[in-house]
Amino acid sequence: MPSIWYAGGRDCAGRADFNVQAYNDGLFILRQAACKNYEKPFIYLIVGTERALLIDTGAGKVDVVTPIDSLVRAAARRRGVSTIQLIVAHSHAHGDHIAGDTQFVGRANTVLVGRDSAAVRAFFGITHWPQDQGTIDLGGRVLDIVAIPGHQPASIAVYDRRTGVLLTGDTFYPGRLYVRDTAAYALSVARLLSFATAHRVSHFLGAHVENTRTPGVDYPVGTVDQPNEHEHDMTHAQLVELDSVVQAMRGRFVRTIRRDFTVWPQTP
Ligand SMILES: [Zn+2]
Repeated sequence: MPSIWYAGGRDCAGRADFNVQAYNDGLFILRQAACKNYEKPFIYLIVGTERALLIDTGAGKVDVVTPIDSLVRAAARRRGVSTIQLIVAHSHAHGDHIAGDTQFVGRANTVLVGRDSAAVRAFFGITHWPQDQGTIDLGGRVLDIVAIPGHQPASIAVYDRRTGVLLTGDTFYPGRLYVRDTAAYALSVARLLSFATAHRVSHFLGAHVENTRTPGVDYPVGTVDQPNEHEHDMTHAQLVELDSVVQAMRGRFVRTIRRDFTVWPQTP
């Protein structure tokens, strides 16, 4: 796991749209170049023997289909299969995570999961949203889906049983944790913590980095060049801290700056 995911500055010269890192043979972490969009989100590709799941498609004008296709093709070759179906889903439905969706519309062997909670719930087999979990078997690789509405109504976390990596979207990452629905968010953080306590989690990986390496200090919204970023992955202890901050507010959220994140309530 690289400790630095520096995404560059404004200049796109010589820089691919995504920095691609293989965590292992079936889990790929892609970080969008800052020059393409200041949000520079992380997206994730998890590949089994039969299917691959892409979580998010990037922000702004970005070529996501080319790197994803090449990763899926290479994975199929390594597994000795002719094709792997691509499923495109989302950590949540905000614009900086869905911008590349159109590149996957109407393609053979590709499923684009709907963005609202009803579609997400149906696709991942979540009986009661949000309290129940869903699963998906990619072929020798089972993922658990935890519904975590609050930042956005269709937010999910994705757990890869193979690596223990837990993808937490915009709900938990080193930055400004914007909360739209405080009641839902408080329940979701508690649900995420109880899941993380019951499972072996190797890394908590969110969709952005907005904090600096200076405790409690973030880069302002819109910052393109972030040479002194906080590390990408978060810890169980930081999730415990988030849960205690959130539960202590008892539904009356106020902006709260902590060492590694800020809880940031937003009025709808
Ligand atoms: Zn986002």
